[in-house]
Amino acid sequence: HSEFDVNRYRAEFPALHQEISGRPLVYLDNGASTQKPQAVIDAVESFYAHDYANVHRGIHTLSQRATDLFEAARETVRQFINAASLEEVIFTSGTTESINLVAHSFVRANLQPGDEVIVSMMEHHSNIVPWQLLEQQVGLKVRVIPINEHGELLFDEFLKLLSPKTKLLAITQLSNALGTITPLKAMIDAAHDVGAKVLVDGAQAIAHMEVDVQALDCDFYAFSGHKLFSPTGVGVLYGKRALLDAMPPYQGGGEMIKVVSFEGTEFNELPHKFEAGTPNIAGVIGLASGIDYVTQIGLGQIAAYEHALLEYATAKLSAIDGLRIIGTAKDKASILSFQIAGVHASDLGTLLDHQGVAIRVGHHCAMPVMAFFGVDATARASLAFYNTREDIDALVDAIQKAISMLT
Ligand code: PMP
Repeated sequence: HSEFDVNRYRAEFPALHQEISGRPLVYLDNGASTQKPQAVIDAVESFYAHDYANVHRGIHTLSQRATDLFEAARETVRQFINAASLEEVIFTSGTTESINLVAHSFVRANLQPGDEVIVSMMEHHSNIVPWQLLEQQVGLKVRVIPINEHGELLFDEFLKLLSPKTKLLAITQLSNALGTITPLKAMIDAAHDVGAKVLVDGAQAIAHMEVDVQALDCDFYAFSGHKLFSPTGVGVLYGKRALLDAMPPYQGGGEMIKVVSFEGTEFNELPHKFEAGTPNIAGVIGLASGIDYVTQIGLGQIAAYEHALLEYATAKLSAIDGLRIIGTAKDKASILSFQIAGVHASDLGTLLDHQGVAIRVGHHCAMPVMAFFGVDATARASLAFYNTREDIDALVDAIQKAISMLT
């Protein structure tokens, strides 16, 4: 992958070029959130400096400009995930809100006695807890797909869970705790065979692989801007139009209505029906800029580069005495979760920070899968396309030094 000009890309991320504790920053916490390229920072700044006003509300010039930028961003997202129409792209505050929208307006609103939602053992809490809340509130049943010791889904067990009672399969495309890539297409097809719909948690996947919602044939797809080199507080819910059309609004407010009267209120059309209130306009514009940025590089190129880097990092880390990688699925991307015998993850994280290396330690909002592996925390290094072999070498050196101090 000599054509992948990582240094050119790195140069475009100002935050990467600083020292922490007197050492050059090595940023390996991309699973939690990604840094922003200058282009995204500029897009947000330029909007606030020149074009700022509320959207869809005014006939004055600034409001028109803001609305044009906001709606152009919807088209950018549509192309990026290959949605069939603009009405299928709903702006939310992030993956968490996107999932909760589906929980309330799709699952709760149409719930029949005995309905089930299937999730996997390795979901993020944001794809577990919304379903558990419905379990407590309205008697939905949550079923869990088990995994093996590599962190791979047991596909046959998944098939056994499917039944006419399955309302929804809510499944991650890429596990933030283990790095496992799920066999999404086969799962979606199997779920559709029993009449279930499928919600994909794309929070991690979206920055690491090409996503085509029509090729996947998923019914809903959720992701966040901040893990895609874009601002915080903005995300997307993709949904098939026929489903979204039939769903009741999630929140009430301005923008999502056509006519309001105390005799009865008429809701707005898609996508506005699901966008109550003033949206995160600058965030949406920044997201479009982030998408343009990664599209120019190409998600296919990014995936290939990161795959080679993950293999390099896996080999290097595995060579460290006492280090156990948690999550060894055959199909993996971007995430290295590990434990070191005799070293507590939080001590390790602190000592790495003292050497300029940023990783995440803890349960990664995935406590069930931590429990499965019998750990309460792991250290997690998570890659982005701007990471290099030198970053991995610095990580390994810092770990060696931490081990010698702690044991
Ligand atoms: N799902 C997965 C797999 C994630 O990694 C995350 C973020 N760590 C989320 C959902 C939630 O995303 P957000 O906090 O941006 O809503």
